[in-house]
Amino acid sequence: VFVVFEGGEGAGKSTQVTRLAEALKAEGRDVVVTREPGATDVGARIRGLLLNEAEAPSARAEALLYAADRAHHVATVVRPALSRGAVVISDRYIDSSLAYQGAGRTLPVQEISWLSAWATGGLKPDLVVLLDVDPSVGLTRVDARGEGADRLESESRAFHERVRYAFLDLAASDPKRYLVLDASRPLDEIASTVTGRLSTLLDP
Ligand code: C5P
Repeated sequence: VFVVFEGGEGAGKSTQVTRLAEALKAEGRDVVVTREPGATDVGARIRGLLLNEAEAPSARAEALLYAADRAHHVATVVRPALSRGAVVISDRYIDSSLAYQGAGRTLPVQEISWLSAWATGGLKPDLVVLLDVDPSVGLTRVDARGEGADRLESESRAFHERVRYAFLDLAASDPKRYLVLDASRPLDEIASTVTGRLSTLLDP
C-alpha cells in the first residue's frame, strides 16, 4: 500500500508521516517512510540543486529535476518496498509537482502529469492525505522554525495560493483516492482520522 502526504508549506506533513508510521509499526507492519525530493543519494544531490539559493533552476529545469528525483526514488525505494509488501509512506509525490511546477510556476499541468507518469512508470498512490493550510498560516509556521524562510518568501502570496488550490482541485477530481484534512485541526485528531482511513485500506 502506497500512501502519500501532500500539502503546502507548514502543513505539518512530516509530523503526520511520523505519527502514521509509528501507529502502523506498533501493529507490527513493515513500514517504509520516505520523501521527495531527496530520499536517495542521487536525490539528495538533486535536492541540493533544486533548493540552491545561489542559482535557482529555471522552471522547466526545475520540473525535470523533480522528475529525475522521483524516477530514481520510485525505482530504487518505492517499488522495491511495495513489492515485498511494505506500507510506503511518502512525504510529497506527483501532486507536489502538479501544484508547484504546474500551477505555481504556470507550466502546463497536463505536461507535468505526463512527465510524472513517465518518470514513475505510472505508479499511483493508493491514498493521498492532503493537509490543507492557508498559506499565511503555513508560512508563519515555517518562519517560526526558520527553515528556508527566505526561499519561500521569495515566492509571491499568489504562488502559494495557486499551489493550495491546485492540491484541492486534484483532490476534488478523485475523491476516493484522497483524504483532505484541515491542517489547523489538533494533531491528535488529524492522526486518528488518518489511521482510521488507513485501516479500511489495509484490512478491507
Ligand atoms: O516538503 P519539503 O519542505 O521538504 O519540500 C521542500 C521544498 O521544495 C518545499 O518548500 C517546496 O516549496 C518545494 N517543492 C517544490 N516542488 C515540489 C516539491 C517540493 O517546489 N514538487
